[in-house]
Amino acid sequence: MIEKRDFYINGEWVAPSAANDCEVIDPSTEAPCAVITLGAKADTDAAVAAAKAALPGWMATPPAERIALVKKLIEVIEARAEDLAQAMSIEMGAPIDMARQQQVTAGTWHLNNFLLSTENFKFDQPLGDHAPNDRIIFEAVGVCALITPWNWPINQITLKFGAAAIAGCTMVLKPSEQSPLNAMVFAELVHEAGFPAGVFNLVNGDGMGVGSQLTTHPDVDMVSFTGSTGAGIAITKVAADSLKHVHLELGGKGANILFDDADETAVKRGVRHMMNNTGQSCNAPSRMLVQKGIYDKVVAEAAAVAASIEVAPASAEGAHIGPVVNEAQWTKIQGLIQAGIDEGATLIAGGTGRPDGLDKGFFVKPTIFADVNNQMTVAREEIFGPVMVIIPFETEEEAIQIANDTPYGLTNYVQTADSDRANRLARALRSGMVEMNGQARAEGSPFGGMKMSGSGREGGLYGLMDFLEVKAVSGWT
Ligand code: NAD
Repeated sequence: MIEKRDFYINGEWVAPSAANDCEVIDPSTEAPCAVITLGAKADTDAAVAAAKAALPGWMATPPAERIALVKKLIEVIEARAEDLAQAMSIEMGAPIDMARQQQVTAGTWHLNNFLLSTENFKFDQPLGDHAPNDRIIFEAVGVCALITPWNWPINQITLKFGAAAIAGCTMVLKPSEQSPLNAMVFAELVHEAGFPAGVFNLVNGDGMGVGSQLTTHPDVDMVSFTGSTGAGIAITKVAADSLKHVHLELGGKGANILFDDADETAVKRGVRHMMNNTGQSCNAPSRMLVQKGIYDKVVAEAAAVAASIEVAPASAEGAHIGPVVNEAQWTKIQGLIQAGIDEGATLIAGGTGRPDGLDKGFFVKPTIFADVNNQMTVAREEIFGPVMVIIPFETEEEAIQIANDTPYGLTNYVQTADSDRANRLARALRSGMVEMNGQARAEGSPFGGMKMSGSGREGGLYGLMDFLEVKAVSGWT
């Protein structure tokens, strides 16, 4: 059993102010794998005070030096990548090879993108040729609370850390209580990279404890939150009392629209994308919208692809999906699958219960429903598990209407050989991101959502801007 009770505050690991142990459960075995402490208010206060004290020095550090430390951090992450992967694998159930090849590398990819996107950024620049005495200074927002979920933990931490660090902000990270171990390795790496004391601090805790202490703390200037839409709304309300900047990356219910002329790999790609990370991705293409001409063929192929996906404990090497994160999530997913059956959707793969041979662990069968209409519970709720729905449509207008008929607006996907149509859909779909024909977003492309999927963007220059105040100066000589 791993015991990791201390917090990283002001450049050192310090003992918690009070004992409040919390077990971390390995979702592949249902057995405790670690014990951590949930922080008390005194711990949160100490971390915020350290961040506040470090702020003037860090803001005054030339951007090139801040960027150089981020570059160093990438090197130390790469050297300890296996520790990060192992931690994620036991605490949130990412299959070990997937943790190595996708989870950890997403983190270094984001940090590299910040380097690429910000190397020519001028933190201080003239307003324009018409106003020689006016300047714009981009200045750190201040002390930032970074509150992150468990599903892509290093990905989410680095997206916030990289932007905040380069902007000159100081930080207190509260990782998910479900995935504290990889965040603690990350804190060790920040230390090893040589960031000054107080720039980055970590306190473990849950949402109601450390989470709410941070979002109501008078010395926190900004909350950057990734997690559920419900928690995002609660945070926005309490942060309003002190008018903090609030940056939200929330849930999703993405549509993946397959027209009759979709390429032949579109179905396999869509199902595999949906099931990756056991369906626990905010940008999962969870609603496959299929045009009538290819509907029957797509349903048959999707069922076959789902049936071919192996489910296994996270420690098993190779390509498979692992368990979902915890018992509450397992139970919720079972209820939603049952709702799909009860409401008359056609179950074409998976279903309730555990996959054969996996009696222990929070394993879910890769599940697909066909003949779904967009008002069914399975089409409306963010399930956050390996469950996809297939919805038929006839016309382009109908596809757009169905895709946009959701409170969420994070990512939509379009599969068609007709580039005019693809471009029309890119404009018509109300989401922060539209991915066409399997083309992944390039380096520096902003990540974030519209509607109930959040506000603000992460990654590259757009992500940096969210951690900067824009100061207008006139009379500059
Ligand atoms: P969650 O909202 O339960 O928790 C996320 C984090 O917020 C955790 O650290 C938690 O302790 C903390 N928290 C919860 N309530 C809080 C409160 N009232 N005040 C302060 N902190 C609070 O989400 P989760 O279950 O960890 O993650 C899954 C959710 O995250 C899904 O809805 C998913 O779509 C979303 N998500 C969004 C993105 C994105 O970029 N849009 C990325 C990944 C996950």
